[in-house]
Amino acid sequence: MQLVFATNNAHKLAEARQILGERVEVVSLKDMGINEDIPENYPTLQENSIIKAAYIHEKYGYDCFADDTGLEIESLGGEPGVYSARYTGEPSDPAKNRAKVLEKMKGQSNRNAQFRTVVTLIIGKEMWQTEGIVKGRIETEERGDKSFGYDCIFTPAGYDKTFGELAHEIKNTISHRAMAMKNLADYLKNL
Ligand code: IMP
Repeated sequence: MQLVFATNNAHKLAEARQILGERVEVVSLKDMGINEDIPENYPTLQENSIIKAAYIHEKYGYDCFADDTGLEIESLGGEPGVYSARYTGEPSDPAKNRAKVLEKMKGQSNRNAQFRTVVTLIIGKEMWQTEGIVKGRIETEERGDKSFGYDCIFTPAGYDKTFGELAHEIKNTISHRAMAMKNLADYLKNL
């Protein structure tokens, strides 16, 4: 089975290929010669993920899946959430976004947060959606420089290192995206 993953992010592609295994050939937008920015400025992760998958399916007719991720912080009412990439505006600036979170969380005792990834799959006329969540806490300062985005201020539950300090192999087995991809793999196995 061939599925287009509506992304060109090499890290996401490698992760998806590893988790979905040999039965599924995962190809990127670039692999299919698609070089356009798909709009993802809707108010929920679910909508963004549906819109991306539906765009590829409707315009090109490919079976495909798309993801959207947000960091949801309890004491900030779920912020930055769907605005995680552009929390301080466009163009996306991860360092500024982290600084904004740390500033807003100053003096805050409830530091609970989660990363949530929503994946939408479209095969033929069928649409299916799943999500993956990793719970944790927001640190008071940055720690570690591995990985990207909000990783160096987020410590997953059960660990004493941030995602920015943990080895990629560990992050990739417990992360929000890995959980969503595992759910997708299970669903595809049972088709
Ligand atoms: P996207 O939907 O995967 O593009 O993610 C949206 C934004 O969430 C990214 O720009 C990052 O700031 C943040 N993000 C997504 N996944 C992760 C992650 O695994 N670690 C840290 N930040 C992430």
